[in-house]
Amino acid sequence: MHVNAYAAPAAGKPLAPTVIERRDVGPNDVLIEIQYAGICHSDIHTVNGDWGPQPFPVVPGHEIVGIVTEVGSGVTKHQVGDRVGVGCMVNSCGECANCRNGDEQYCLAGMVPTYAGTDRDGTTTQGGYSTHVVVDADYVLSVPDGLDAAAAAPLLCAGITTYAPLRRWGAGPGTKVAIVGLGGLGHMAVKIAHALGAEVTVLSQSLKKQEDGLRLGADHYYATSDPDTFQQLAGRFDLIVNTVSARIDLDAYLGLLAVDGTLVNVGAPADPLAVNVFSLIGARRSFAGSMIGGIALTQEMLDFCAEHDISAEVEVISADQVNEAYERVLASDVRYRFVIDTGTLA
Ligand code: NAP
Ligand code: ZN
Repeated sequence: MHVNAYAAPAAGKPLAPTVIERRDVGPNDVLIEIQYAGICHSDIHTVNGDWGPQPFPVVPGHEIVGIVTEVGSGVTKHQVGDRVGVGCMVNSCGECANCRNGDEQYCLAGMVPTYAGTDRDGTTTQGGYSTHVVVDADYVLSVPDGLDAAAAAPLLCAGITTYAPLRRWGAGPGTKVAIVGLGGLGHMAVKIAHALGAEVTVLSQSLKKQEDGLRLGADHYYATSDPDTFQQLAGRFDLIVNTVSARIDLDAYLGLLAVDGTLVNVGAPADPLAVNVFSLIGARRSFAGSMIGGIALTQEMLDFCAEHDISAEVEVISADQVNEAYERVLASDVRYRFVIDTGTLA
């Protein structure tokens, strides 16, 4: 099947319309007519070559919502007409200890990313900036009815990437949680941490988005450009989730953790981050990382978001606005996720 898509032809080059091939629907596959695809900063890191060489042309997009239009003979989990989602992962071995434990994203054989990855049949995966995609049914999520399709798309990456560490490190009533960076991931983290019952603080570069941050569910909001912020908040937080796409001064942020506090990095800048061990040993602090979340947890997150009426704040764009949207994300000028109406590719 040949379908319309938007692809980056080479590292750092603007995305342009193209036609790609989707595989035939196998016994355990579903064919999805894509309605919306979110733009994640990871798409930009990938096509700009921040994370190393890629198998260009690359069709990005791992925040996909659409409708099932065909199912393979062995599929029982999804039916034609169902509204579904696909996140950052479209396959894994299913047999290793991590897959069996529901941590398919940490598959020992390597999980298959939704784009720029090598699928288990040897083909290169292509993502959601496209009209259709064929995905193994086990990696396809159900999108609850109560959620708006466009606003639900970012949950498939930004939602699960922040839900997973917030749950794992116990964000909830009585805990003080800080979110660093109020972008796509950050704004989801604020909403989810608030819904989990934590006391939420936004740490943003400036006060420009303060009103938004408080409206989204934060209790406090500070500008990290103000050095007083780091003195005022020293030793305050149980958990800090860093969503920043660039290098930050980790030691300054570690100093904001209470004894036994944890800073979880989900931001994935190209450059290494330095840590002075005294920032950790001086208060038994931890520095951790987390990558998206397993399939069962992703479904749990979608159901949680529907139950709490949480979805992304989105700016819906047509496919030909993708390059402009990338520029705006790079300038931290996104409120708070661009989502492509993939109908504009038809
Ligand atoms: P985004 O929408 O661009 O948000 C990043 C935010 O970080 C910006 O809005 C800005 O917030 C802040 N920021 C940007 N540059 C900064 C700088 N130089 N110094 C300080 N703060 C800065 O990006 P996103 O889509 O949320 O993704 C964020 C990062 O997470 C990316 O690196 C992405 O690749 C990564 N990611 C990781 C996973 C995972 O599984 N671990 C999954 C998805 C994405 P303020 O304006 O509020 O300061
Ligand atoms: Zn992403």
